[in-house]
Amino acid sequence: MKKHIAIDGPAGAGKSTVAQKLARRLNYLYLDTGALYRAVALYFWQNHLQPPEIEGLPFLLSNIKLEVSWEEKFRIFLNGREVTEDIRQPEIDALVSPVAKIKEVRDYLRAVQREIALSRPSVTEGRDIGTVILPDADLKIFLTARPEIRAYRRWRERKDKGNNIDYKLVLKNVLMRDFIDSTRDNAPLRKAEDAIEIDTSCLSIDEVVEKIYELVKN
Ligand code: C5P
Repeated sequence: MKKHIAIDGPAGAGKSTVAQKLARRLNYLYLDTGALYRAVALYFWQNHLQPPEIEGLPFLLSNIKLEVSWEEKFRIFLNGREVTEDIRQPEIDALVSPVAKIKEVRDYLRAVQREIALSRPSVTEGRDIGTVILPDADLKIFLTARPEIRAYRRWRERKDKGNNIDYKLVLKNVLMRDFIDSTRDNAPLRKAEDAIEIDTSCLSIDEVVEKIYELVKN
């Protein structure tokens, strides 16, 4: 059995749902690395700090303590307070990619991610897991889907949680984040050479999980 699974891909490709289902089936730890970037973005937002003014201010990061838990669901805590829901606000959707571009933020979170992901067998999802965070992962998956489908999934997710957000706004945010994430100098969103690409546009969640599960076993 493969022990460390890396799942990368753009926003809305199905990473979170697929990775969580897979982790449950395997009884592995699940790590949502986007949530870590979102929690850092939330910290800056709560303190009225925005890029570019926070660039080059690494000392700010020493004020941040992040903890995660994976039991009945994935939860994240910022300085002891649960922020699992707060990090999904539209303000954070807009702020997170500019924050994730900052070198000091990426360096800081690299260590945090490795410590958590390597603590036990895990399914880790993000943008640079196969390329930078876990380059020696036992299995690397790159999930993709057409942008309109990805935006629709995000919109549906928010709507199901009672958040009536405009679909066009979600599509705009998804495209903007794709652009920033894939063009940044530092650890851009990119498929690792040895990653297996799966286009989820026409597949159900269970079909994707099944495909990856087979790859983990063999
Ligand atoms: O996965 P999610 O969409 O919640 O990620 C939010 C943002 O965090 C991404 O758009 C990206 O800017 C950043 N991120 C990253 N590297 C990761 C995970 C997320 O840069 N490994």
